Amino acid sequence: MQRLKGIGVSPGVGAGRAVILIQRTQVIRFSIPAAGIDGELARMDEARRRSADQLNRIQRRLPGRDLGALFEAQRLMLDDPMLLPEAAAIVADQRVNAEWALQQIFDRLALVFDAVEDPYLRERKGDLADVVGRLRMNLAPGGSGFRQLLRACDPPCVLVADELPPSVAAQLDWTKIQAFITDAGSRTYHTAILARSLHVPAVVGLHDATGQIAPGTLVIVDGAEGDVTIDPPAETVPMLTGVASAFRRTGMVRLKADTSGTPLQTLDGTRVILEANVDLLGDASFARAQGAEGIGLYRSELLLAGRVADEVTEEAQYEVYSQLLQEMHGAPVTVRTFDIDEDQVATGEQQRDSLWPSGPAKYDAPRSRLGLRSIRLTLKRRELFRTQLRALVRAAAHGQLRVLFPFVSGIEELREARSVLAEARQEVEERGGKAGPLQIGVMIEVPSAALTADLLASECDFLTIGTNDLIQCCLAVDRTDDRVSHLYEPMHPAILRLIRHVRRAAGRRKVPLSVCGEMASDPAVLALLVGMGLTRFSMTPVAIPVAHQVIRDLDAKELRRVAGQALRLASAPEIEQFLTDALTRPAAKLQS
Ligand code: PEP
Ligand code: MG
Repeated sequence: MQRLKGIGVSPGVGAGRAVILIQRTQVIRFSIPAAGIDGELARMDEARRRSADQLNRIQRRLPGRDLGALFEAQRLMLDDPMLLPEAAAIVADQRVNAEWALQQIFDRLALVFDAVEDPYLRERKGDLADVVGRLRMNLAPGGSGFRQLLRACDPPCVLVADELPPSVAAQLDWTKIQAFITDAGSRTYHTAILARSLHVPAVVGLHDATGQIAPGTLVIVDGAEGDVTIDPPAETVPMLTGVASAFRRTGMVRLKADTSGTPLQTLDGTRVILEANVDLLGDASFARAQGAEGIGLYRSELLLAGRVADEVTEEAQYEVYSQLLQEMHGAPVTVRTFDIDEDQVATGEQQRDSLWPSGPAKYDAPRSRLGLRSIRLTLKRRELFRTQLRALVRAAAHGQLRVLFPFVSGIEELREARSVLAEARQEVEERGGKAGPLQIGVMIEVPSAALTADLLASECDFLTIGTNDLIQCCLAVDRTDDRVSHLYEPMHPAILRLIRHVRRAAGRRKVPLSVCGEMASDPAVLALLVGMGLTRFSMTPVAIPVAHQVIRDLDAKELRRVAGQALRLASAPEIEQFLTDALTRPAAKLQS
């Protein structure tokens, strides 16, 4: 037995067999039963055959001898005894999947290439990476490796990942996953938010859980304490798994929600609106039951559930958006357009060319939060974007729908997105469909958008501050990198100043402004934001009853004074300390 200690981010106890997901290299590791080894080797053989065919075809199409020779070198690598035969040996000896075995060999050979003096030979590592990338693609024809992960998850299982970005989390079948743990992460780590709304126990910041836990090992996760037990003694297993299944049956202990319909206000009468961040359609009714007055953020990319965005038809999306409106019984619903990464769009030849103009070497370009994603990606894939916008325009006929553009960095993107929306509306009308009115909003999560909030506000209907990304972009802290997570400071003066700047800009333009980042679900921060003049929030549904309670006990006038002083302080720890002292004084009447 072994124990690991991390940061508990979603309470509850979950138990199951470990499935390892290494996102860094986008390679998943899982165990193969003895009877499945032959099949795994055959899959590898088929991938080799397909790769050789493709390389031959590429070579024939190429005019110059130099380029032809390049691909000839890659084709020869396919037959190199150091590559596939060695990987096959790993599959057979360690009973692991072919992708994983291939990655092990690549890592090994890459070290050899790195060590050679000759620059020409060193360069060949790029070819090797291309060949391995091609083999990997051909191991999963027509689908991503995540589909395999779904198949590999023999419930009940515990997902052990190096990191778990939302784009990956969105592709998993959470009904099979009893808990998840990650090497990376911090308290505000995005997927932890998802875990909470799915009621899946989670522990993050374990540093090397993926290295220490073998696939298939029994793992018990205590998401409240941050404890992970690996391979517990046989006599304790029934008890521990019993606790886990009891948790799954009873769910989380929640504060009682206020669904009386009485408008929420502070002690001194400032009206505050609490809406919900909803990741799954099924959460809408839960959000309403928690007292949400609307949906302030629906992360539409989560409806992809393992598919690429191109596979989800206008009709299917229209159904989801209409249903959200229906579930909310007339309350407003904000749908954020796809905040997706490159691996969530189809990569047919033509599309590949438009996204990666410099050719095959770029297929494996590292995905980056600052790269081709979100509005930048959908603006490049107009047809896909228009499909989503047509579905939204049509659904808008059934209720108060708002469309929200994510990761906007300046006015040009907003204008371009608006013009695609106008095209989509025209297409719906030309087809004789019913188009409804839509409010158009911009997510303020890039510092440049925050600083130009006045310009954006003058060309849209509402603004929403996404503090999760705003903090990481403004402070240059990768929110998935545990080593710098201490620098991810929601109370950093720079963040508070940006928020104040946006609040003033929105106020001057008389445009509604809300905060939908995770930050607002922390009661102390919520109090500070109310003191800064913010009155609309959207948060994970489970946080709403607490927020309700906090707001009702606040004195907004007193908080304005507190916030004014807080904003004059120089560092996050000073602000936190000041806030703690100020809010625990009886005058502020804050209880959490
Ligand atoms: C944000 O960035 O604050 C936000 C709400 O968007 P997401 O967490 O989905 O990136
Ligand atoms: Mg964001």
